[in-house]
Amino acid sequence: MRSPKFPVTDDHIHIDPANGRGIEAAKDFLRAGGTHLFLVSKPSWSLSVHPASGADYTRVFDETIHVAEMIRATGLVVFPVLGVHPAEISRLSERMTLADAAMVMKDGLDAAAAYVREGKAVALKSGRPHYEVTPEVLTASNDVLAHALDLAAECRCALQIHAETGPCADVAGMAARAGVPVDRVVKHYGSPDTPLHPSLIAKHEAIADLAREHRPFTMESDYMDENSRPGAVTGPKSVPRYTLRLLESGRISVEDCYRIHGETIQKVYGVTVEIG
Ligand SMILES: [Zn+2]
Repeated sequence: MRSPKFPVTDDHIHIDPANGRGIEAAKDFLRAGGTHLFLVSKPSWSLSVHPASGADYTRVFDETIHVAEMIRATGLVVFPVLGVHPAEISRLSERMTLADAAMVMKDGLDAAAAYVREGKAVALKSGRPHYEVTPEVLTASNDVLAHALDLAAECRCALQIHAETGPCADVAGMAARAGVPVDRVVKHYGSPDTPLHPSLIAKHEAIADLAREHRPFTMESDYMDENSRPGAVTGPKSVPRYTLRLLESGRISVEDCYRIHGETIQKVYGVTVEIG
């Protein structure tokens, strides 16, 4: 077992004992050198929850909090991130009007914000569809995203967004209007060209260069933990694995590791990252 003297943080991972490897995947992360992880709630449908109201999302959130507790028993530090997946708009609007779908999603985000206020979760998650949608769906999705930003401002917490590939430059303006610092809006699966805070997939080729420039970014696996899609994603070990690989090859320093996995995480999410 490798035990680095610095934190190794995955800021976007899913662990799903019902549909995936569950705690075994978290143990893989730990054994590979991982220390802290941001456990992101899964889309409602992946837990067979079909929300008719915002309150129905609490089943998804309670499950995430329960899984977080299970993972903590391994010794890992777990920060839950709760929210409503942007693709829910397409699923929900098969069963209800677009306006109602947006309302259910906003109410679901309100429910998530209650967990942040209670200290059970550290951040919210929202976004807009990363796939082609009609202008009406895009408008409704931006409305939901604006609501998530308002909640992040109220709760003084970070917001992870799942959105289309690219910089999402307009979201910086939306964040400013809501009063959320742009460096607390985390672009999940981000790229260096975003004005938001980029969370880079662990194997992103720009990591060593950005570290050298002291550009703030964090790292994620976006591991989905679904046995039905084993090859669909990077594995749970990818953040520690790529970090240690870059360190061992001399492309990043131990100081860089502290900055990426400790200091930057603390600044963006307002959590304490201790190690040692
Ligand atoms: Zn994800």
